[in-house]
Amino acid sequence: MQEIKLKIAVQKSGRLSDDSINLLKRCGVKFNNGLGKLKSEAENFPVEIYFLRDDDIPQYVEDNVADVGIVGENVLAEACKKVDTIEKLGFGKCRLSLAVPKDFQYQSLKDFDGKRIATTYPQVLSSFFAANNVTAEIHTISGSVEIAPSINLADAICDLVSSGSTLFTNGLREVETVMQSEAVLIARKTLGADLQAILDKLLFRIKSVKAAKQNKYILLNAPNENLAEIIRLLPGMRSPSVLPLAESNWSSVHSVVNENDFWQVVESLKSKGAEGILVLAIDQMIQ
Ligand code: ATP
Ligand code: MG
Repeated sequence: MQEIKLKIAVQKSGRLSDDSINLLKRCGVKFNNGLGKLKSEAENFPVEIYFLRDDDIPQYVEDNVADVGIVGENVLAEACKKVDTIEKLGFGKCRLSLAVPKDFQYQSLKDFDGKRIATTYPQVLSSFFAANNVTAEIHTISGSVEIAPSINLADAICDLVSSGSTLFTNGLREVETVMQSEAVLIARKTLGADLQAILDKLLFRIKSVKAAKQNKYILLNAPNENLAEIIRLLPGMRSPSVLPLAESNWSSVHSVVNENDFWQVVESLKSKGAEGILVLAIDQMIQ
């Protein structure tokens, strides 16, 4: 009997490709993603990876061509397909924004009334305008949206932005955020027990990789007189490990800190006399 495999769709080549492939590899899934490959079977985990255009992924997942997929929330929202969002993946972060030419006197959303807006996201944009009582003319184009105002195809645009540098080089100014987006794992509505079991395993690994990325392993030497306060700064997973140093009155403290408050914690630790602070990346964090 043929082994059951979970079919995973990822972007073939684009902004999500490297992060999607690296995520699967960090989950211990070994596969060959050589150039031009359309499909690859993992050697050590029951999955098959399909390399596709990102816009097609929601449709393929809905239609059962793939069981799960990795795609931007922006693409998912535009596609309006019946699939489940399983997990946010923390990469491919961007926003869908409205931008106007620099000399456009922008005050509020009402300024878009009667204007022509170029976008590749007509569904998301029309819902946003409807929710905000704006009546604008949406022009759907398939790419290079940022040049539309300069060739008089539109008065403003709605496009994906991360740093804003593309807008700036094209003389545009971001004025409203329509939606925030990041890559998500999506799944077909009814997977069945066998495929669900594979997905659960994969998801457990994905969560461990995500947690590891958000945390750092920290080691330091602490004077025993301030040990209690230093321990309070480092709650860790359960509590920090404390080992005596060869030098009396000093201890070595090992713990895990969240990336978000990392520098603040380090500053407080130093003010409590911590020395020899080492910070290491974590590969996996099993919770
Ligand atoms: P494909 O050939 O697969 O259709 P594409 O050209 O449509 O690719 P990319 O530009 O590779 O798509 O972007 C893929 C996804 O990356 C976007 O849908 C979005 O979710 C995310 N992304 C993150 N930052 C940005 C950004 N600054 N501009 C565009 N997309 C971004
Ligand atoms: Mg695309």
